[in-house]
Amino acid sequence: MPCGEPVDIENPCRTTDGSAMLGRHRSRGSNRPPESLLSICFSSNTTAGQFTAHGQETDEEIRKSRARRGVNKSVRPEAAPDEDLLARERGKRRGMLLRGMTRPSRPILTRCFARAALVVAAALLGGDASLAADLDWRRLGSETTEVLADVIRIDTQNPPGGETAAANALARKLEAEGIRAEVFESSPGRGSLHARLPGSGGAPPVILLAHLDVVPADPRGWRFPPFSGALEHGYVYGRGALDAKGVAVVELMALVALKRSGQPIDRDVILLATADEETGGKAGAGWIVQHRPELLGNAEYLLTEGDHIHLAHGGRKVVQVAVAEKTPCWVKLIARGEGGHGSTPPAQTAVTRLIRALDKLRRYRTGVRLVRPVEEYFAALAPLEREPLRSKLAHLSEALEDPAFLAEFTRNPRQNALIRNTMTPTVLEGSPKTNVIPEDASAQLDCRLLPGERPAEFLALLREVIADETIRVETLLSFPASSSDSTSGLMAAIRKLAATDLGGAPVIPSVIPGFTDSHYFRDHGVASYGFVPFVLSEDDEKTVHGINERVSVENLRDGVRRLVALLRALSTR
Ligand SMILES: [Zn+2]
Repeated sequence: MPCGEPVDIENPCRTTDGSAMLGRHRSRGSNRPPESLLSICFSSNTTAGQFTAHGQETDEEIRKSRARRGVNKSVRPEAAPDEDLLARERGKRRGMLLRGMTRPSRPILTRCFARAALVVAAALLGGDASLAADLDWRRLGSETTEVLADVIRIDTQNPPGGETAAANALARKLEAEGIRAEVFESSPGRGSLHARLPGSGGAPPVILLAHLDVVPADPRGWRFPPFSGALEHGYVYGRGALDAKGVAVVELMALVALKRSGQPIDRDVILLATADEETGGKAGAGWIVQHRPELLGNAEYLLTEGDHIHLAHGGRKVVQVAVAEKTPCWVKLIARGEGGHGSTPPAQTAVTRLIRALDKLRRYRTGVRLVRPVEEYFAALAPLEREPLRSKLAHLSEALEDPAFLAEFTRNPRQNALIRNTMTPTVLEGSPKTNVIPEDASAQLDCRLLPGERPAEFLALLREVIADETIRVETLLSFPASSSDSTSGLMAAIRKLAATDLGGAPVIPSVIPGFTDSHYFRDHGVASYGFVPFVLSEDDEKTVHGINERVSVENLRDGVRRLVALLRALSTR
């Protein structure tokens, strides 16, 4: 439970007196904690797009420091460009026909080698070698890249969204493959897509979910315009490349690949490409669950965004699957007061009341609480670290009682967010004129609660801290947190994929500080998991919601292949 120690919410990661939070071990002011080891060790674990304001500052500082050192580019070697794609891209720029272009023929030996490699890859995947050999992954990868570039070019910035055009583009691709697709709107322009690839019916369906809306993109600072879908050095650039049009297109192409293989799995595979995730999903996934629940069939599992295969320093891969999420409790504080001319102010105005309330919140620090999924997450990561960190993560509850370790641990914004509720002031509104005192002034707070927290109790605490009955607290978005079983058949299938396709990479059930549309489906009884089969470095992750968002052609191709392997592994259980 929150302890109520006054602190600075502008800097939730500052070194603090841990004794107040945990009730023991007073820290000595003279002992400055050592440089955080965790923020280095866990740098690969940052979940893209879920940073607090503090995290953004940190990222900005890193960028500035890199610029000072003259390091502008990713140190990660870039994948070799796909020649076919580059040729097509050049063709597009020259205004040539986009489709049906003759491919340059490759030497027969290369083709034979490619076919042999596919058979070997299929064997490694533990699947049916003839099936995998029949699928032309290179061609599927090229098609995936083309479809993604086309969909990125459809501007679906939310607000207002306008996802129908993107949903229609995906529907055309599916129908060209003989897969029936339906596009429906929750309101004009807010379209979502549903498609269902029939299986042999031995097991309940699995849903692949991704959203088609994107966060706004200011073209300043981008290497290419954010809605160009440009291809350079083996990467597709554009808003939504990773979050989440790239995911939607890989999921769609997995249906296409399974259809082309002629060997259905034992489950129906349902694709949902939805509107409105970025502003809470009420006009997309939420609308579907409420108004079209029949589209979910009696699905057992759902896969969506949330986590992925992390590429840590030294090239080590760690598969993280989000099984639980923090939950949003977005609120608006509204202060009222007498309006008037700025030259003759009364003692109290709406603006001064609001500032006083925000200052009280700024001084308040929420308490540390280690919830079970978070404890299990760090315990699972422990074997990947060296001593003494390994033991501390394995027994995190005990370790956090040491104020020095707590300070070190919470210096990393993501780790800090995983052990407490957070409150981040974001939107401020007052008068539009310098010389006019407004009657209303408001502030929006992006609060995030740990799994198991009750929003009503949190709001009561918020009112208690503000201690001003004239300030109205309105809830903008709130729902209870949910989680999925980390020992399910789907998790077993992901472990099988990691063993056969990812060199035995460890599989870690994770908790993410942000939220996805998963909760709508968990509430409907579908076990939902945040896992995208892309291998992403920290540099890749930083492009989500940032500038130069991009996904590699290699990830698109391997993503489709891995997803097909995963669905087949799920099928054979
Ligand atoms: Zn997203």
